[in-house]
Amino acid sequence: MTPNQTNISSPAWPGIKPFNNNNQVDLANDQTAPIANRRPLATTSRGASGEGHGASLGGGGAGLCFAAAIFDMDGVVTNTAAAHSGAWKQTFDDFLKQRAANHDERFTEFSRDDYRRFVDGRPRYNGVEAFLRSRGIELPRGKPSDPPGCDTVCGLGNRKKVLFDQIIEREGVRTFDSTVSLAREMVRRGIKIGLATSSYNSEEVLGRTGIPRLFEAVVDGVESAKRGLRGKPDPDIFAAAAADLGVPNGQAIIIEDAVSGVQAGAKGGFALVIGIAREGNELELRENGADIAVRDLSETNLEQINLLVQDKRTGAR
Ligand SMILES: [Mg+2]
Repeated sequence: MTPNQTNISSPAWPGIKPFNNNNQVDLANDQTAPIANRRPLATTSRGASGEGHGASLGGGGAGLCFAAAIFDMDGVVTNTAAAHSGAWKQTFDDFLKQRAANHDERFTEFSRDDYRRFVDGRPRYNGVEAFLRSRGIELPRGKPSDPPGCDTVCGLGNRKKVLFDQIIEREGVRTFDSTVSLAREMVRRGIKIGLATSSYNSEEVLGRTGIPRLFEAVVDGVESAKRGLRGKPDPDIFAAAAADLGVPNGQAIIIEDAVSGVQAGAKGGFALVIGIAREGNELELRENGADIAVRDLSETNLEQINLLVQDKRTGAR
């Protein structure tokens, strides 16, 4: 748990091994991590003061060279990423165990790596399909009205949603102080703030946080379906949020914790993609499109982000 993750209790997992921080090495002291990926942004040689640098490059914030910031929700604004991973694990492990028994096969559990590679950040049913494909399993797509747990893509996705809802009902939803502080600072400096999440639960999840409504534009799973947007790793959802804010992609930064999300950010031509590597997966996020990766936004600040945007535009990064 990071020092900035306040009021976050450890999720109680219904008989499953959690993917949260409870069972991890102390990543802050993980000397096996590549040095380049352990280096916090605070060590940038450009220093911390970026005042005035942005003016010549345009932008919307006072003294800043970008105009908008679009945040992912789960794992970036709220601590709900662990609830998602736990709900996915129970859903798939139950399904795989039953399938192994029926086919007289060996059961191979749904892993943390499976979570990051195939489902994190993606629209729910797309995540089911991507994971099943990785195991060579084909199920009928079914319908969104399928009962939770029935052997269709939609049925498994609906089962996951039921489990997720149970977890956040039991555990509540908390925000990351570092993210909320940075977002508020951005608003004070004239940066427009948007949220782009594949979640169909954004209204409920944000409603549970107890923080005032921060985001001027929200494009979630419900809105994506209405508009026919492709989900992450395509960039549509981020582009739609930028458009709703009246800002071109090149003037908007993306803050995202999922592999699929940084891939989407990289494809969309945004001003900067910041990866949040809460599991110590900085290298993975960098390799998939993040311009920079930190374990928590407390490792950086608005002036350093501004310098990174400027560096990216001028080809220094
Ligand atoms: Mg996320």
